[in-house]
Parts: sequence; structure tokens; C-alpha cells
Amino acid sequence: MIDLVSKTFFHTLAGSQGLKQLASRYAMRRPHSIARRFIAGETVEEACEAARTIEAVGLLQTLYMVGERVATMAEADFATRRYLTLMDRIVAGGIGRNLSLKLTQLGLTIDRATCVDNLRRILDGAGTRDFFIRVDMEDSPFTQVTLDIFETMWQQGYRNAGIVLQSYLPRSVADAKRMNELGARVRLVKGAYKEPRKVAYKNGAAVDAAFIEIMQLLLTEGTYPAIATHDANMIAATRAFAIKRGIARDRYEYQLLHGIRRDLQTELTAHGYRVRVYIPFGGEWFPYFMRRLGERPANVRFVVRSILREH
Ligand SMILES: Cc1cc2nc3c(=O)[nH]c(=O)nc-3n(C[C@H](O)[C@H](O)[C@H](O)COP(=O)(O)OP(=O)(O)OC[C@H]3O[C@@H](n4cnc5c(N)ncnc54)[C@H](O)[C@@H]3O)c2cc1C
Repeated sequence: MIDLVSKTFFHTLAGSQGLKQLASRYAMRRPHSIARRFIAGETVEEACEAARTIEAVGLLQTLYMVGERVATMAEADFATRRYLTLMDRIVAGGIGRNLSLKLTQLGLTIDRATCVDNLRRILDGAGTRDFFIRVDMEDSPFTQVTLDIFETMWQQGYRNAGIVLQSYLPRSVADAKRMNELGARVRLVKGAYKEPRKVAYKNGAAVDAAFIEIMQLLLTEGTYPAIATHDANMIAATRAFAIKRGIARDRYEYQLLHGIRRDLQTELTAHGYRVRVYIPFGGEWFPYFMRRLGERPANVRFVVRSILREH
């Protein structure tokens, strides 16, 4: 219940322009400002530096240039060009070539065909530079269209891309089976958005049970799945299942978010597991930041303490 209240509270705040302006001014300005716990910084240099630090301790990384629901074609084109430039910067910087993006960042809410063209430009650029592109999953109005676009690209021969499925959506079991049939790489998450009761499980136990069911499907029939969670129980269930079935550690990876459960990140690496850290960066970090805050009631206290400290 308190989880739902926290999610709703931050979801409502996420719509506030005043708060957004205030946050832009204060939440990122110092090395210890609150948003920096979850976001690597606003610039490509800061992102590459964070990626290097992560790789130095044996972790893998994927960079996400924050942005979603752009309102104009020009913004979608700008985001596309920035992803292509980012690839060049990553190649020059000699860090791992793995990016995450969102389709509404590439214009999905404005024009589907343009979004597909933009994604194709990125996948073409990724192909020549040997990058892997993960298409993040957004809220449920975009689930089907995201899967459709992903599958269209897959059928056209783009194999350097993967998708995300959310265990809070009952439909994801069937979607996982379909992705397994295709041979596509899936990142499994619980789901981050505030969804209506009729499309998503509200009960944490149901979300966890579906997570385990899908994890087992992906591990046994899927292609190099990513189990993306900070939940020690989900990680333990994955480890136990993989051991029982004799699934080697290099047949899947764990993924965690920048700034969350660093203890688990290093512990898993120390045990020889592949662990990838999702590193968000860039100027449009406010919605991402608010989703992270809403995930945990304790984050409300964390924000209040940080604001008091900033003053
Ligand atoms: C690599 C990665 C990529 C993701 N991509 C997507 C995506 O494309 N689409 C999507 O909908 N969701 C995505 N998510 C978010 C995901 O859906 C969940 O919202 C998020 O991971 C929290 O769920 P959990 O599995 O960690 O379990 P929970 O049960 O929510 O959390 C387990 C424990 O982790 C810690 N924790 C979790 N979240 C926080 C937080 N914000 N702050 C502090 N501690 C926290 C706490 O200790 C908590 O008790 C992604 C998550 C990861 C790790």
C-alpha cells in the first residue's frame, strides 16, 4: 500500500512544472546533489567517466541518454543524431558499446513512421560500429507498438537489438515466449510505471511470481537474457534455477541501475556473474529521477534530508 502511495505521490509531482524548474536548478548542481545518486551527470564526458569507473571494477555498462515523449519531429531527429554522435564518443573513449533508448524519445508519440526511421538510423549506425541497442519498455499504451516495431526491425534483419518485458503485465509471459521464438534478447524487469489496475498486477507477490515464471522461460528457452532487478529474492531465485538446470554464468547477465544496490553489484561480480549497470545521463533527467524516487518509500526521507542539506 505504502509503495502505491509513494509511486502515486511522485507520479503526481512528476507533472509539476514548478518542481521541474526547481529540481533543474538544485538537484544536480553539486557532486553530492540528490539527482546524482541516480543520474551520472548531464554531459557525455560525465557519462563516459561513470562508465569507465564501473568497468574498472569488472562491471559492464549500458548508457541511456535520458529523454522521453519528445513533442516535435525536430526533437526526435536531434535525439537520433545525438545517439549517433554518442556512439562515436564511446568508440573514441574505448568503453563498452551498449546503449539503451526509448521509442518515445525517437518520436513515437508524434509519428510512428518517423520513429521507425530514426530507430533504423540508430541501428544502422550501431551495426557499423558494433553496438548493441536495448529498446527500453515504457508504459502500457506503448507496449504493443514497441513490440511491433521491434519485431519489424528484427524481421528486417536487425539483430543487434534487444527488448524489455515487464513482469507486472500479465501479457508478458506470452510476449516472452514470442521473443524466445524469434531468438531475441530480452531484459526482464518488474515494471516502473503507474499502470491502471486492469492492465497490470498491483500485488507485489503476483509481480514476483510472474518475474520468476518469465525468468525461467528466458533462461531455458531464450537468448542471453538480462535479469534486471535489485530484489535479492529474485536474484537468489535466478541463481538457484540456473544452478539446478546447469545453465552457465555466461549464458545470461544481471542488470542493475546506477546508484542502486552497489553492494549487490559488486557481490555478484565477485561470484563470477556478469553484471551490467544501466547508466542514465543528460539534461532531461527529471521524469527518470521521479520514477526512481517513487519506487521506494524511503526515498521520500532521502529527498527531504538532501533538500535540507542543500540549504
Ligand atoms: C537495468 C534496468 C533497466 C530497467 N529498464 C526498465 C524498462 O525498460 N522499463 C521499465 O518499466 N522498468 C525498467 N526498469 C525498472 C524496473 O521495472 C523496476 O522499476 C526497478 O528495477 C525496481 O524494481 P526491482 O526489481 O529492483 O524490485 P523492488 O522490489 O522494487 O526493489 C527491491 C529492492 O531494491 C532496492 N531498490 C529498488 N528500487 C530502488 C530505488 N529506486 N531506490 C533505492 N532502492 C531501490 C530496494 O532495496 C528494494 O527493496 C529497469 C531496471 C533495471 C535494473
